[in-house]
Amino acid sequence: MGNCGAMEILRELKEKCETPNGKLRQIANAMKDEMQAGLASEGGSELKMLVSYVDNLPTGDECGVFYGLDVGGTNFRVLRVQLGGKEGRVVKQEFMEVSIPPNLMVGTSDQLFDFIADELAKFVGTEGEGEGEGEGEGGKKRELGFTFSFPVKQTSINSGTLMRWTKGFSIADAVGRDVVMELAKAMERKGLDMRVAALVNDTIGTLAAGKYLNVNVNDNDGGGDVVAAVILGTGTNAAYVERVDAIPKYAQEGIAQSEEMVINMEWGSFTSSHLPITEYDQALDAESLNPGDHVFEKIISGMYLGEIVRRVLCRMAEEAAFFGDVVPPKLKIPFILTTPEVSAMHHDSSPDLKVVANKLKDTLEISSTSLETRKAVIELCSIVATRGARLSAAAILGILKKLGRDKVIKEGDDEQKTTVIAVDGGLFEHYSEFRHSLETTLQQLLGKEVSSRVLIKHANDGSGIGAALLAASHSQYNHINI
Ligand code: ADP
Ligand code: MG
Repeated sequence: MGNCGAMEILRELKEKCETPNGKLRQIANAMKDEMQAGLASEGGSELKMLVSYVDNLPTGDECGVFYGLDVGGTNFRVLRVQLGGKEGRVVKQEFMEVSIPPNLMVGTSDQLFDFIADELAKFVGTEGEGEGEGEGEGGKKRELGFTFSFPVKQTSINSGTLMRWTKGFSIADAVGRDVVMELAKAMERKGLDMRVAALVNDTIGTLAAGKYLNVNVNDNDGGGDVVAAVILGTGTNAAYVERVDAIPKYAQEGIAQSEEMVINMEWGSFTSSHLPITEYDQALDAESLNPGDHVFEKIISGMYLGEIVRRVLCRMAEEAAFFGDVVPPKLKIPFILTTPEVSAMHHDSSPDLKVVANKLKDTLEISSTSLETRKAVIELCSIVATRGARLSAAAILGILKKLGRDKVIKEGDDEQKTTVIAVDGGLFEHYSEFRHSLETTLQQLLGKEVSSRVLIKHANDGSGIGAALLAASHSQYNHINI
């Protein structure tokens, strides 16, 4: 009986989450317009379109040992790469991953950065273990690329002010401060002598890594153009290479030294009246740490997909007794259902949907569900993930439109190279239904001819290695390396 009502709730959700191609095209156009507005003037759009000060991406000639630090979500990574110059490329790569204790995500700036500096110091301590690699080579200071994936107003290649927190972080005293200074002070407190050569975010790191490692693109003339990078992980964001003369707000500063500049879009803040927003999204937003902010991120990224599913299940239980007469108490706990769990249920191909049954039991303490109930849960996961994936594809189309790469351009006899978008993040990497939906949607939107020239490429762990690569291309010792 109750289940009739539950199916009705699901049907309504599906309708509200629908993303026909026509709507996606409108969203792509809106994205392109907002990009333009954000580039025109400071505050010209919800899209910040931040100037990154990265105007030279790694070329492949970089040489030496460099460190990367990647902070941007639940885990942070520290890595060390040894670059061998032209032909050597990445000679050696080591890394360590540490999860950030939840209390530090809402504590003080000193607490967070002390923890990071401590772990970093431990990792640096392992340098040269095994073989005698460049310990402080010739008295050179170690250099670090710092990937910090929160909205930062960059003031130079290695300084920037934190504008606000996202993704569940909330450390009031850090907002408005230079995050490189905060890290440098913590490193000093820990006796770690290291210079931050570049401050970037994960999208820019991924873009740098994508460019550097641009291999396996089977183009006749050896490689496509890596024009943009997208992150689909805990949060979502994108960066791309823009012509300086298309950035009026930067040209006004009168300091442009290069023809191109990497723009950090902060596309998580994108909003448009065309976005399919439901009552569940609105409630999630209202109860979040940053209400009204990052609307796009909240319907797409890994931090939120599980929570949206939970909210719908909760309503189905409360209003239609979807799980019986008693509403399962666990179902009322915000964020108890994670996106990896949604993904596991979505991919369940066992005949009796065992995975769904087990997740419902283990996570939500809901036992003895009928096959029909489990099917409905999968349908729900599919609705929420498909909306996120298709909207991500539309947003990528927006960038391609901005760059004029949504169509085939023939200059004389030369055809344009393959356009490559480097993508990384746990959601893209592990949620295959999501990834597949994103890729097929982009193909649909571009059409056959163009989509054969556009490649979505997984840049695995690009944000960490990219940071180290950018430390190398912005090294203070560059002049003596060559
Ligand atoms: P971050 O974005 O925090 O830097 P990652 O790129 O590793 O880290 O992404 C982690 C996020 O990816 C998780 O928060 C989760 O939402 C998502 N994720 C991880 N594994 C899976 C999975 N198996 N299925 C779906 N999403 C996943
Ligand atoms: Mg990351």
